[in-house]
Amino acid sequence: MFEKILIANRGEIAVRVIRACKEMGVKTVAVFSTADAEALHVALADEAYCIGGPRPQDSYLNEDAILTCAIASGATAIHPGYGFLSENAGFARRCREYGVVFIGPSPEVIERMGDKDAARRCARDAGVPIVPGCDLLQGPEEAVREAERIGCPVLIKARAGGGGRGIRRVDRPEDAAAAFQEAKLEAEAAFGDGECYMEKFVFPAHHVEVQVLADAHGNVVTLGERECSVQRRNQKLLEESPAPCLDGRDDVRERMFKAARDLARAVHYTGAGTIEYLYADDGSFYFMEMNTRLQVEHPVTEFVSDIDLVKWQLRVAAGTELPFAQDDIRISKHAIECRINAEDPEFKPSCGTVSMLHTPNGPWVRFDSALFPGASVPPYYDSMLGKLIVRAGTREEAVRKMRASLTELVIEGVQENSDLQLDILENPEFLSGNYHTDLMEHLYES
Ligand code: ADP
Ligand code: ADP
Ligand code: MG
Repeated sequence: MFEKILIANRGEIAVRVIRACKEMGVKTVAVFSTADAEALHVALADEAYCIGGPRPQDSYLNEDAILTCAIASGATAIHPGYGFLSENAGFARRCREYGVVFIGPSPEVIERMGDKDAARRCARDAGVPIVPGCDLLQGPEEAVREAERIGCPVLIKARAGGGGRGIRRVDRPEDAAAAFQEAKLEAEAAFGDGECYMEKFVFPAHHVEVQVLADAHGNVVTLGERECSVQRRNQKLLEESPAPCLDGRDDVRERMFKAARDLARAVHYTGAGTIEYLYADDGSFYFMEMNTRLQVEHPVTEFVSDIDLVKWQLRVAAGTELPFAQDDIRISKHAIECRINAEDPEFKPSCGTVSMLHTPNGPWVRFDSALFPGASVPPYYDSMLGKLIVRAGTREEAVRKMRASLTELVIEGVQENSDLQLDILENPEFLSGNYHTDLMEHLYES
């Protein structure tokens, strides 16, 4: 096992990784921006270094500063968390050149899967169904032609996209040219890569994703699925496992799991990863993308599988062979996660200083965050303040536990979305278990 690792991230995920390291006896090195000098991850790590100004380019994306800190502090591995450098193949390659282990898959795998258009072809070649669509679009005229051929509605999607950005829906072929330009500009600004492809808009559909864990010895297991259809603007708000829409459909589940393992094996995947699918109620499912990193919603899987994903990320990166086979994996009970975001009722990000904090607790209630009274929520980063995760014997009990926990949560000083989460947990469509990716569009109608 590594003696010391550097965590190239901030917020709740940096704290999550530091906690796992403490339990494993691994020393930790935190890096931080000038905006985060008082942050929890800095206080909890064994060592911490300021690596630049508040803007992500200057600090959490500052590859030179991060690598310098790793080498100078004697850290032999880097955990990238999610977001920031976690899916940056160039950074993973530089880590390798400097003899530092990047805790994640190889740069080659990140590169292949990070290009969503190439990943589609990879999935197809591995025998995984993909959404009808086309390869990279050469220009607005081709976008119009393809929209006609594939049939509206379609989505124009940036190959480098992530976090719901770089996606445009097109309902009439004549609108495809303008949508193409918009998606391209948004992706150029966000990812420095404006290339886009097109997919049929699958509706009604569920976002169902499968957790994969693979070691460097060729062992691949799946750890169940997560239903992530509660989304606003293609960004997840609430996740649960098992997916209620697959109740009584273990045949579909098994096919999804097998396809995920086949694809992971085909690309020689190592570490934790997620295969995202769209699932239509007729039993068909399509590969959407692979996230080659730890997912925000990984605790949901930890609660139903009893497997600590972060610890296993570290172990497989250090060369340990997985001691369990697929048949040893047992998914039991039901888990739900609510993302607590700093935002006002109009969904605008809210920042400030936490003046008062009370977090829920109790059996199988987990609140992953980096908050404390006095913590500052700066405007430069993701607006997620924390994640509330609960587990119970049945979905109904988990919903009740989540409601009780949310009503207990008090965060003063910044605005947050727990009331919205409570509304979701009262919504009849959500409660039916058969809700789709459009749930948030008519949350207050049913
Ligand atoms: P998950 O699938 O784990 O829920 P999200 O899509 O919500 O992941 O993204 C997780 C985090 O990573 C968010 O903070 C998001 O802003 C960020 N993120 C996702 N993709 C990218 C990307 N390509 N570049 C930069 N940040 C990204
Ligand atoms: P990101 O990298 O931003 O997470 P995804 O490709 O995972 O992008 O898509 C984000 C969300 O957009 C999905 O969770 C789903 O709700 C919706 N989506 C993406 N592709 C399609 C599609 N072809 N049909 C319907 N919905 C889609
Ligand atoms: Mg996605």
